Order: sequence, then structure tokens, then C-alpha cells
Amino acid sequence: MADDQKKTFVMKGIGVSPGIVIGRAYLFDRQDAQVPFYNLSDPGLVSAEIQRFRKALRESEKQLLELKNKLGDLGGGMEPLYIIDVHIMIMRDRKFIDRTLKNIREMSVNAEWAVRMTVDKYREIFDRMEDDYLRGRISDIQYAGQRILTNLAGKKRTAIDMGEGVVIIASDLSPADTAQLKIDKVLGFATDVGGKTSHTAIVARSITIPAVLGLESITRAVRTNDDIIIDGSAGVVIVHPDPEIRKRYEVKKRLYEKAQDDLLDYARLPAVTKDHYVVEIGGNIEFIEEIPSAVLHGADGIGLYRTEFIYINREQLPDEEDHLAHYRSVVGVKGLSWATIRTFDLGGDKFFPDKKPSRELNPQLGLRAIRFCLKEVALFKVQLRAILRASVLGKLRIMFPMISGIEEIREAKRIFTEVKNELLAKGTELGNDIEIGIMIEVPSAVIVAEELAKEVDFFSIGTNDLIQYVLAIDRINERVTYLYEPLHPAVLRLIKQVVDIGHKAGIRVAMCGEMAGEPAYTMILLGLELDELSMNPLAIPRVKKIIRGATLKESKALLNKVITLSSASEIRSFVGAEMRKRFPEDFPVNGQ
Ligand code: PEP
Ligand code: MG
Repeated sequence: MADDQKKTFVMKGIGVSPGIVIGRAYLFDRQDAQVPFYNLSDPGLVSAEIQRFRKALRESEKQLLELKNKLGDLGGGMEPLYIIDVHIMIMRDRKFIDRTLKNIREMSVNAEWAVRMTVDKYREIFDRMEDDYLRGRISDIQYAGQRILTNLAGKKRTAIDMGEGVVIIASDLSPADTAQLKIDKVLGFATDVGGKTSHTAIVARSITIPAVLGLESITRAVRTNDDIIIDGSAGVVIVHPDPEIRKRYEVKKRLYEKAQDDLLDYARLPAVTKDHYVVEIGGNIEFIEEIPSAVLHGADGIGLYRTEFIYINREQLPDEEDHLAHYRSVVGVKGLSWATIRTFDLGGDKFFPDKKPSRELNPQLGLRAIRFCLKEVALFKVQLRAILRASVLGKLRIMFPMISGIEEIREAKRIFTEVKNELLAKGTELGNDIEIGIMIEVPSAVIVAEELAKEVDFFSIGTNDLIQYVLAIDRINERVTYLYEPLHPAVLRLIKQVVDIGHKAGIRVAMCGEMAGEPAYTMILLGLELDELSMNPLAIPRVKKIIRGATLKESKALLNKVITLSSASEIRSFVGAEMRKRFPEDFPVNGQ
């Protein structure tokens, strides 16, 4: 982590408009009019104050009508326009006007104060309403009041310069605020308040940009120009994303943009080839909020839960109950048959609140993942206890990352058994068929896979790291991205070796690196006879489509040819041609 990299933190709210944006924050200040108070000492001033109020009402209405026209010209649906109509109606409402006039006359207060009193009175009434939706509508009256106050203060609302485009951070936004923002430069919204039916949600959906609302304190946590990611599908906001997280979200964003609704039909179908070879499909998740997406897109289970994300932005390390709360949401979920929980893969000083391992020059080769767990056993045990306790809820698979040799898996299993026996001694109820597996992502693990297979129930190939270590390519270094090549013969041969050894030993072999979700590679992976492919949920429908359109027989023939080729470019052009021939719709000649 570079010195100037600010600490990554995550905020969770309500995802109200799907999609992912990676960008720069802009803290929107509604230029709240200060509300001055003064007594009208001379009764003659009352009529002047009433005139001021009426003028502000007229100006407010005129501005709203202008905004309505402007929004109408931009397109994007009628709902924001209706909301502006509501605000105009409030400004024309007799009761609203009369109450304010009465305040001016009877209490001899200035117009601003009189408006404020009217709005406060309405708030009192709305607060007593049982219905959530109706109670929330006080915001309409507040917006209307705010606009009148701004006009009373004589402030002009000026358009804001937002450069190439920004993510708007605000307490709340009205459609009128939105119009002030130059809508074509708004890439996403994140707000303190609001929910699915609030104005910001409606606007965001109508102009199809991601939005997460109800974050409670985002305006306090984020400053203009901060790097920010909005995942409107999961309801997650990541501030100051570190390079690795950023990279992950670039992939998710790409997948989101490529995902097509018409492919969702495939989500519901099993991943079975035309000659009846069945592949289990897993979903990879970082946050429990992504589970609905895994179900929707057709995962059979969770193939990789990256639990290190539980550690982000905490004042203190998560305790057993924190872990358990997360695992309860993952294990035994309706619509998913199993969950694979990977023990935390933390490296360097990433995500740690109070434990600061010394800075490492090369954290990818440093004290990360299982190495860290075996050094910080107490911390590891907290997580293992929670995982074991969650096992009673459904089918659970536990997976250890970065295993490089036999001692590590034996030691991890020893600690696991110790924790298990401690829990059993206390009478804790546990699931009785927890599977234990390891990620195969360090080249040495491939070389000693035969021995490792005797220790576990399954392998899951982590191609993201395996490629990094086999080809000596830093997976987040832009300068060597061009060398990061899943189709390198060395990579394919190693993967084949892992599958063959695993199967010979009678254990399941999965793949959970990004490679598993790339449809161009699906036939190669079928040919390898992987038992499970686990991927970003958004990638599932497309991969299922390819699986269902292929046969195991032809996939094996394709693989047999691929494995004889000596360079990645030969493999790429051969596989590309084969896929275009078989799936012209999915791999158009000039397409990606
Ligand atoms: C991998 O290395 O392929 C993997 C799935 O794990 P991660 O991307 O979390 O390192
Ligand atoms: Mg990995």
C-alpha cells in the first residue's frame, strides 16, 4: 500500500438503483438557507413581509416550472416531473400559505421564520403517521420550504461544475437539486437518508445510474474528490478503494455492463451439457449483500466467500459474533445448496484496524492468507469458531487460501479440529458434513497436489493468484497486465495436472478464479472436467448458455488440441475460431 493511499472503508446502505460506478466523489451542499429570525417591531412591516413571502412563492414556482421543462427535455421518465408537480402543489396549497401568513401576522415574525414554523408544524403531523411511505413524504414539504427560504434569502442557485462526471454525495436530493447538478455529469448517488421510494431513488432509476441511499453518515465520511465505488446492486459504497479492490470492481463493472436481461432465462436452467455432463455453478461474493444477485443469476451455491472483507473499516477486529452474523447470512440460504467460506486472505497491512504488521515491500509474497492465520492463531480461531457454529445451518465447505505445502494444511486442520473439539466439549451443535478444501493458487501446491489431495475433500483452483505466481506477473500492476495470460500453456497444463490428480484421488476439483467466469474459456474448462465453476454472479447466465450449448465430447477434443499448442497466441486464435464457429451469436467475428 502506497503511503498516500488512504484507508479503504466500506459503508452499507440500500441499493436502490443497480449498477457499478468507480469515480470521484462530489459533496453536494444544498446551499441551505440560514433561517434568520427577527420580530417585526412596527406593525406596518407586516404587509411588506407578506409581500416578500408571496414574491418568494412566485419565484420558487417559476424556478420549479423551468426545472420541470429542463428535466422533461433530458428525458428519463415522468416520475421526477410528478415530484416537481407535488412541490408546486405544496407552494400553491391554501393551508400551507394561510398558516405561514398567520404566523407572520399573529406572531409578528419575519417570513423566513414563519415558513420554518409552518414546515415544523407539518413535520409534527407527519411524524405521527403510522404508514412509512406517508411519513417519508414530509420531505416534499421540506423541499418546498427550503426553496422558498432560498428565494427569501435572495440566493441564486447556480449550476455546479462537475468536470468529467462525479458521484454525488448528499444528505438527500430532490429532483430540483438533481436538475441543478447537470444530470449528464452525474455518475451515481450516495446519500445519508432515503430508501427505495425516495426521490433520489426514483431519479436514479429513471436516468439509470447506480445509487445507494440510507447510508446515514456518508456526508460526514466523504469529501469532494475522494475515490469512491458505488455498487447500487449490492447497496455497498467503498471509499478510498485500494488497488486490488478497485481492480475487482473494474471486472464487476465490465460484467454488469455486458450482462443482458435476456440471458437471465439461462440463470434458472441447470449447467448441463448436451451429453448430460453436469457442472456445479458457484457464485463468488465479497459481501453478504451480493447473495441475492448470486441466487438471481443462477448460482447453485456460494463457491467463494472472500471473508477478508469482513475486516474492512472496523475500529476493532471482528469478534466471533460479528463473523457469525455474516456466516448466518451465507449458510443455508434459500435457493443455494451450499456455501464455501474461505478463511480470510489478508495480506500486508490491508484492512487491519489495530494490528499493523510491519509494512512489506512485496505483500503478494508476504505474510498473507494462511501464513498469517498460522502465525496469529488466536485470530484464526475466532473465525473458525464462527464458521463451525454456522455449520449447523446448512451445507458448509471451508476453504484455506494460499496453501503452499503439506505442513500448512495439516497445521490448519489441526487448529480446526482443536476448535471443533472445544466447541463440542461445550455442547455446541455443529453440522456433521463440513467439507474441508484448499485453494490451489501457489505453484508449489500443484507440484505436491498428490499429497495435498489426501488431506482434503476438494481443491479449488484460484487462477488469479496461480497465474500471478506461475508467470511472475503482479496481478494489479498495470504495466505488466499484457503478460497476464490465462491461456499460457504453462497455466493450462498446471490446471490440467491439478484436475487429473484431484480426480485420481477421488476428490472434487473446482475453479474460482476469474477464468471460471469467462465464456470464451468455458469449453476448455469443460474439457478439463472441472466439477465446479465459481464466478462473479453476473457471469453465470452467459457461462451456462455455453455449457448448455456444448458437449463434453467436443470440449474434450478441443482441450486435447489446445494442450498440444505451444503459445498463448496460438491457443487464443484456435479457441477463438472454435467458439465463433459453435456460438456465432455469442462470439461475433468482430466482437470481443
Ligand atoms: C484467486 O486467486 O484466483 C482467487 C479466487 O482468490 P482471490 O482473487 O481472492 O485472491
Ligand atoms: Mg487468491
